[in-house]
Amino acid sequence: MVASPLFEKVALIGLGLIGSSLARVIKREGLAGEVIGCARSEKTLATALELGFVDRVEADAAKAVEDADFVVICTPIGAYKAIAEAIAPHLKKGAILSDVGSVKETVLRDLGPLVPEGVHFVPTHPVAGTEHSGPEAGFDGLFEGRWCVLTPMTGTAPEAIERVAELWRRAGSQVEIMDAAHHDKVMAITSHLPHLIAYTIVGTATDLEESERAEIVKFSASGFRDFTRIAASDPVMWRDIFLNNQSAVLEMLGRFTEDLTALQRAIRWGDGQTLEELFARTRAIRRSIIDARQA
Ligand code: NAP
Repeated sequence: MVASPLFEKVALIGLGLIGSSLARVIKREGLAGEVIGCARSEKTLATALELGFVDRVEADAAKAVEDADFVVICTPIGAYKAIAEAIAPHLKKGAILSDVGSVKETVLRDLGPLVPEGVHFVPTHPVAGTEHSGPEAGFDGLFEGRWCVLTPMTGTAPEAIERVAELWRRAGSQVEIMDAAHHDKVMAITSHLPHLIAYTIVGTATDLEESERAEIVKFSASGFRDFTRIAASDPVMWRDIFLNNQSAVLEMLGRFTEDLTALQRAIRWGDGQTLEELFARTRAIRRSIIDARQA
């Protein structure tokens, strides 16, 4: 059964993995009367129409948001400010402006002051994704069973927050409201540092001598393969995440480097007990992730 629409007109700016997945689920669940898609390239706009997850496309973001009661920025974070400046004068009074960026404190800091009086700003982060990007990569089940974190500023109208929360619940997610700085710290260790480590390992392997490099692909199933999947994620999106979550990532990286040095020492001194104790503790974390159905 299709539920009643939550919004009359939704404008999605950015139609890649996240934007197109959101569009698909909005269509599937009948959450909006009309879905307008906006992206940079003609190719993405044409693909969106062809795949049918939007009703209409608009190359100009300012035109796309006209009369929309829900606007979601779904581009890499580096593009946010220019987009916000372009659309701000065209946002309808009473509209909700949102985003799906993986970092939240700088988004609040940079976009907050640009949001016009009478427009509700409800930033979100759907904690769901794959290493693929672009409009073809999206699918309507992406958010199913995942968390969506909302980081509204104090003073935001509760009805606007609830409407956005309801959208994500209908997309299959569980919703949590969190302080932006806390969100960024949690993501620094659960998402951003793992990506940095994967990028580093794959980079180190790529720089090896020719003879060793040839063996990497052949024997990748021994562990390396899992890092290459993460390290295949979109370079621009990840550049922007590290530039925007600088302090939290550097703090976690400092802790990580200390722990790595301790392991280095344990290996050098043949301290098997230290190694085994750590590996036993980390195995338990994996089990708890499986139990929480986040595997
Ligand atoms: P993506 O697949 O690379 O898609 C990005 C989209 O943004 C493309 O449609 C691109 O248009 C459009 N775009 C880029 N610059 C633009 C501009 N200046 N004006 C209009 N459109 C522009 O990226 P994604 O994976 O969906 O990520 C989007 C956002 O979601 C990021 O902020 C990211 O932090 C967040 N996020 C990502 C994941 C994940 O796992 N990927 C998970 C949670 C949150 P063209 O196609 O025309 O170039």
